[in-house]
Amino acid sequence: MQVSGRVLVCDSIDQAGIDSLKRAGLVVDYKPEIKPAELVAAARDYDVIIVRSRTKVTKEVIDASSAKIIARVGVGLDNVDVKAAEAKKIRVINAPEAASIAVAELAIGLMIALARSIPRADSENKKGNWIKKDLMGTQLSGKYLGIVGVGNIGRNIGRMAKALRMNLIGYDTYPISREFVSETGMVVTDLNTLLESSDFITCHVPSTPETKHMFNADRFARMKPTAYLVNTSRGEIIDENALYEALKANRLAGAALDVFEVEPPTNKLLVGLQNVICTPHIGAQTREAQELASIVIAEKVIQMLRGVI
Ligand code: NAD
Repeated sequence: MQVSGRVLVCDSIDQAGIDSLKRAGLVVDYKPEIKPAELVAAARDYDVIIVRSRTKVTKEVIDASSAKIIARVGVGLDNVDVKAAEAKKIRVINAPEAASIAVAELAIGLMIALARSIPRADSENKKGNWIKKDLMGTQLSGKYLGIVGVGNIGRNIGRMAKALRMNLIGYDTYPISREFVSETGMVVTDLNTLLESSDFITCHVPSTPETKHMFNADRFARMKPTAYLVNTSRGEIIDENALYEALKANRLAGAALDVFEVEPPTNKLLVGLQNVICTPHIGAQTREAQELASIVIAEKVIQMLRGVI
């Protein structure tokens, strides 16, 4: 069944989703460079507004809009004023499943990069420095991996880490599925026990008032001085100043961060440490994840306009 309506795409998204929307009968305006003031002015002309992470769908945009649906081609909804949208009965959707393999693979890559100092080995080699003796690493096999937040991404990491013969410890405020626990042998515990017992800790919780600075000086003090921390979730969950102090004082072996309290990161002391690896929020930045997210969002929009969901 064809549908009618106008769709404004405000950020660059994979072409596959745009093609699906057009095939279903929708008129799509693709404006990946649209500026905030232009969006406010244009918002009343569209039934659907689609964004990725660049565009902020503020209360001002929502107040000016006639949209029935606001869609985020990605996981979180941090850049959409969901309360303001709900007050106007605008449906807000996202594609939480689409990036879970991509983020899990990045987290595994960052763990190996930390354990073997791969970025430092590469950059010193390129400078002509053969620093083999300084690069005594550690194996992942047999080590304890603490997964904080055992949702879509946390479970994918668990399965990948199991294949690397790591032992899994999990903490979540929501019950972790029994099938997953029996499949992977994960030991489910409280946060402090996880922190005290893990050799690697990877975080996969959403950004909420409860998770803000969940990793603070007290929590770092509980971790093993040989432990590595990986954060590919949201920057707000780590108190970056406390992490800097813990790393500088060798109370933690290293950290890999894909996300920051402010992006791009302004905490130059932290990102400049030799035992910190930084990537520019690339967790979902794979062709496969972007294509899947744009197809999932297009499908949801079409089904909503048909009244099926
Ligand atoms: P999800 O909703 O499937 O899983 C999150 C889990 O965290 C849930 O099981 C939830 O119960 C748990 N949780 C919530 N609050 C908690 C708390 N206070 N303590 C312990 N557990 C808690 O989400 P997901 O798809 O696995 O995504 C996880 C995170 O990854 C999100 O923050 C998301 O924004 C982020 N993410 C980052 C990138 C990136 O580019 N780096 C890409 C995608 C997702």
